[in-house]
Amino acid sequence: MFRETLMTLLEERQKEMSEIRRYLHEHPELSFKEDKTAAYICDFYHGKDVIVETEVGGVHGIIVTITGGKPGKTIGLRADFDALPIAEETELEFASKNPGVMHACGHDGHTAYLMILADCFIQLKKELPGTIKIIHQPAEETPPGGAKSIMESGALDEVSEIFGIHFFPTFGKTGEVGYHKGFSMAGRTYFKLGIQGTGGHGSSPHMANDAIVAASYFVTALQTVVSRRLNPFETGVVTIGSFDGKGSFNVIKDYVELEGDVRYMNQATQERIESEIKGLVVGLESMYGIKATLTYTADYPPLYNNPEVTDQVVSYLQKGMGEYLTDIREAEMLSGSEDFAYYLEKIPGTFFYIGCAPEGVNQPFFNHHPKFDIDEAALLVAAKSVAEVVCGYYQLT
Ligand code: MN
Repeated sequence: MFRETLMTLLEERQKEMSEIRRYLHEHPELSFKEDKTAAYICDFYHGKDVIVETEVGGVHGIIVTITGGKPGKTIGLRADFDALPIAEETELEFASKNPGVMHACGHDGHTAYLMILADCFIQLKKELPGTIKIIHQPAEETPPGGAKSIMESGALDEVSEIFGIHFFPTFGKTGEVGYHKGFSMAGRTYFKLGIQGTGGHGSSPHMANDAIVAASYFVTALQTVVSRRLNPFETGVVTIGSFDGKGSFNVIKDYVELEGDVRYMNQATQERIESEIKGLVVGLESMYGIKATLTYTADYPPLYNNPEVTDQVVSYLQKGMGEYLTDIREAEMLSGSEDFAYYLEKIPGTFFYIGCAPEGVNQPFFNHHPKFDIDEAALLVAAKSVAEVVCGYYQLT
């Protein structure tokens, strides 16, 4: 009975999901600057029988705790709510009113479906055998991200399993959902290497110590990290995107700065690449007598979907087949990164994908495109799918 009541409640509030999504879409805010969005979300919960924590993790994190009428485990459901520095090019009537800022990754939709789903759980909380923590997370798009500090705050210490979804119009149509077990999205690291040599006259290299030569050697040596140190069945990418060696043709440069990007599909690869790069830097110092300063900051870790939990979620979702789902299929690994990975480092859970290609569009725009859009009917599919997972988890029929 619980499941049926919940699904009916969600259907009744489908229009409201669209309204919230449109409001958020019209008023996008950048990562860490989501003051109005956070206030809007808090307002929604005002006067409801829940505990609302704000500014969780020292960012605009909002955690809404829905305590069920019966004792049981605690689960977390997360939706992010920040937008991107992109000038919107859709012709939607509710296009961004904040120039140069756009909800181009569907986070408006994530937040809209979860607010209504949360409200339905609040309505039915007497029947709930456990506690649900609704995590409205800011700053997914910009490292260090919102998830990391929310995790570090201890606010989710009691959570035994965590779930999240992402809208991907390119994944499929409304009604299609995707999952991936194990490592599913890439981790990434930013690094900067400062090489301090000794400047001098171009005619007298013996009286100087050329930073450009040392830096060039480093770039070349770096190419062997992936090709010679990684297992061929593992993937990684190391790119130097910036080499600041500009100077005068006849002056030996004293300082060069390199900046680079590293991507990897699992934690072991990240550790191997990091230790190899650090080793090369030590070698560079002794080989060239320069002073090297390395800043190596891992941004988001690779996202790991717990295989058992993912299997469970897939089995729960089967119930929706023929009802609101037309297909549940395994998705490919994604080379993009997601800070939901921080939750999954500590809490078993899964992050799955909601198809939402707009009606009649053959090739939808990918996330982060200025013309990105979703089919709003997918809001209800997301709400029902996550509702299904909660019902399955608590064995609510
Ligand atoms: Mn996103």
